[in-house]
Amino acid sequence: MEILYNSTRTKGNPVKASEAILKGLSDDGGLFVPDRIPAFDKTLEELSHMSYGQVAYEVMKLYLTDFTEEELKNCIAKAYDSKFDTEVIAPLVEADGAFYLELFHGATIAFKDMALSILPHLLTTSAKKNNVKNEIVILTATSGDTGKAALAGFADVEGTRIIVFYPKNGVSPIQEKQMVTQKGDNTFVVGIHGNFDDAQTGVKQIFGDKELAAYMDEKGFQFSSANSINIGRLVPQIVYYVYSYVKLLEEGRVSDGEKINVVVPTGNFGNILAAFYAKQMGLPIDKLICASNENKVLFDFFESGTYDRNREFVLTTSPSMDILISSNLERLIYRIAGNDADKNKALMESLKDNGSYVITDEMKTQLADFYGNYASEEETAQTISKLYEKTGYLIDTHTAVAACVYEKYKKATGDNKTTVIASTASPYKFTRSVMKAVDEKYDTMGDFELVDKLSEISKVEVPKAIEEIRTAPVLHDNICDKTEMKQTVMKFLGI
Ligand SMILES: *Cc1c(COP(=O)(O)O)cnc(C)c1O
Repeated sequence: MEILYNSTRTKGNPVKASEAILKGLSDDGGLFVPDRIPAFDKTLEELSHMSYGQVAYEVMKLYLTDFTEEELKNCIAKAYDSKFDTEVIAPLVEADGAFYLELFHGATIAFKDMALSILPHLLTTSAKKNNVKNEIVILTATSGDTGKAALAGFADVEGTRIIVFYPKNGVSPIQEKQMVTQKGDNTFVVGIHGNFDDAQTGVKQIFGDKELAAYMDEKGFQFSSANSINIGRLVPQIVYYVYSYVKLLEEGRVSDGEKINVVVPTGNFGNILAAFYAKQMGLPIDKLICASNENKVLFDFFESGTYDRNREFVLTTSPSMDILISSNLERLIYRIAGNDADKNKALMESLKDNGSYVITDEMKTQLADFYGNYASEEETAQTISKLYEKTGYLIDTHTAVAACVYEKYKKATGDNKTTVIASTASPYKFTRSVMKAVDEKYDTMGDFELVDKLSEISKVEVPKAIEEIRTAPVLHDNICDKTEMKQTVMKFLGI
């Protein structure tokens, strides 16, 4: 049965999956949500014998119902190939009584690759299906990670171009090197004089420029976004939760139907929402454990029922979780409001106007599947060193936030069900923080010296993504002022 997508802010006018992917965000500012959560049409036992790509097909076909079998299988085949450094795509590693689901074996060694390697193909397929003749131009502002993952995903994908703006002095040296060495004739990377907010504001202005959009259309282009609120990013993220469960089943680590807990280091609430959808589909998950760093808006929300962004923004060693507005939470709010767009819209308006909203007790009771907690900077570093000393397994700072919160959960509840911890980045991506956590003395070493040291102490080979940038030539040296972003885009498109 076909699944259609509604906006979280307006009743009626549902769209097909391919239209939702093309649009990204609904015109009313709402997020697209499926009109129901589909159930599996295969048993877990049947799924347990499948490869990652096969499980991806079985899950995604239930959501992207207007894609043909051939279209979807094509997208999956192009996404989960040798860009990943392991055939299993998302391996499970057991350490200290938990299973770490390593989501960092793709092109940029962080979990964003799981979705951004398939989004370009879902997008170009959606364009074809809807008779869009224009070339799709992806515009992104990045504080470091998303930009590179999007560049890697869209590089040389026919019918697309990608332009990434980053704050010239606001990303780490490794992050900058990763972006400016990006290959692909359709890629364009620009450093701006300004901070991340300036880049983000500039991109939003370009998206909102109706005159420019009309001119672009005349010239055969249209903008799209690779933002994490696109359902084309959410749906592929459901896959690895299903895959991890059925692999535990295949290996006899759980019995069929036995419930597990899932722990997710959370920022924008996309990754954990995907786990929630997996649970709604019938995957035997008990608790969804939401781990925050010192920007603990979500912990406070689960405790009190009040979402309040009015607080100091803390820069932490897990920067991809330094977020005070978790955009994807809106999809959960809509659901616990009884799929009521008006109620959700009122709460989101309160967030915009006052920086906060309060949910009703009735809504709060529906959050029983979730447990929230957070890790301080000190606890995060200690978690890395303790796990390393005990097992030799080295995790990154984001994953460490999750591991720390998992320990707190076990202490608080005594629950020791089989547990999967989403491991969202390779320790090589945050080398300095990870190595400093192991021993302060490493802080005096240079960036690539640290890379080699990490390899030595963890006995994990340096990933290709890092090895490549050591010597890769700089291919992008564009810099512009924050006021010149629109002209820069037009110049790149040659219009
Ligand atoms: C983006 C990111 C997260 C947060 O994921 P959300 O879906 O935004 O909650 C966690 N860890 C890493 C390494 C990330 O890049």
